[in-house]
Amino acid sequence: MVNAHQQFSFSFFTFEHQQSLFMFNSSLRRQLVIFIFALTSFTLTAQTVQEPTSTAHPEWSRPFPPFRIAGNLYYVGTWDLACYLVTTTKGNILINTGLAASASQIKSSIEALGFRFFDIKLLLTTQAHFDHLGAMATIKKMTGAKLWVNGPEAAVVSDGGRSDYAMGTGVPFFEPVKVDSLLKHGDTIKLGDAVLVMLSHPGHTKGSCSYLLKTRDEKRWYTVLIANLPTIVTEKKFADETDYPGIAKDYAKTFASMKSLNFDLWVASHASQFGLHRKRKPRDKYNPAVFNDRAGYDKAIADLQKQYEAHLKKQ
Ligand SMILES: [Zn+2]
Repeated sequence: MVNAHQQFSFSFFTFEHQQSLFMFNSSLRRQLVIFIFALTSFTLTAQTVQEPTSTAHPEWSRPFPPFRIAGNLYYVGTWDLACYLVTTTKGNILINTGLAASASQIKSSIEALGFRFFDIKLLLTTQAHFDHLGAMATIKKMTGAKLWVNGPEAAVVSDGGRSDYAMGTGVPFFEPVKVDSLLKHGDTIKLGDAVLVMLSHPGHTKGSCSYLLKTRDEKRWYTVLIANLPTIVTEKKFADETDYPGIAKDYAKTFASMKSLNFDLWVASHASQFGLHRKRKPRDKYNPAVFNDRAGYDKAIADLQKQYEAHLKKQ
C-alpha cells in the first residue's frame, strides 16, 4: 500500500504532465486526457486508505525471528505486533497481520519455521485496528484463506476502520476485508486437529476478542490464552461516546471475563503487553514455561482496570 505522501507526489506528477499536453493535436490530446483521467481515478481510489503514521513506533515494523511458543502455536509477528500461526493437519490459522507493509515479513517468518505460507486456510484477528489488520486484505488475496471475525467487529473490518467509534475518521485506515463468517462469544473454531475458543472482549473495539487454544507438545498439554487486553482508546467520557453507547458496560464485562479465565500460558496482541522480550531472547531454545505467568497477567488486567475506573470517574 502506498502512503499518503507518495500518493500526493503521484497526483502532482500527473498534473505536471497534463500541462505539457497542450502542444499535441486534439485527438491525441483527448486520448491522453482520458488516460490521465484514468490515472487520476486510480490515484483517488488508492488514496482511500490512509494508514496512520507509525514513525513513533519503529518496533511495530522491526523484524523479529519467529519461534515456537508451545505445541502447534508459533510467533510470526514483528518486534511488537504479535501475529500467531496455529498449524493443523488441514492447513494453518493466522491470527493478526501487523501493519500493511508487514505481509512479506510474516510470509518470510512462516517459511523460516518450515511451513508453507499458502497453507494458511483461516484468518482471525484480535481487534480491527490498522496495527493488527493492516495486511489482512493482502494476505487474504495471496492465500485465498477465509476470514472469521467476532460479530460486532464485522462492520469495521469490512469498511477498513472507517466506522471505528474512536479512531474512525470517515476514511479507511486499513484496506477493507471481506468477512466470510461471524463468530460469537464462546464459539469453538475447528480446523484439522486444532481447536480454539473465541472469547468476545469488547471495549477497545466493539468486537475485540481473545482466543483459548489447547495444544500439546512432546511432553504435555497446555491451555494458551491469546489475550486482547482492554486498553482504553477514546479520550472522550464514556457517556459522550455516542457511537458506542454500551462502552462502559462492555469494558466491565470484559474485565470480569478476563479475570475468570484459566490457562497455563498467555500471550497478547502486542509483544510489550506480555513482556515477550523480557521473557525470551531471540536465540533461546523452545521453552513454553517462560509464558507461564499468571501473576504478570493479573497485574496487567488490574492496572488496566484502574485506568478504566479512573476514566469512569471523568463522567
Ligand atoms: Zn488497537
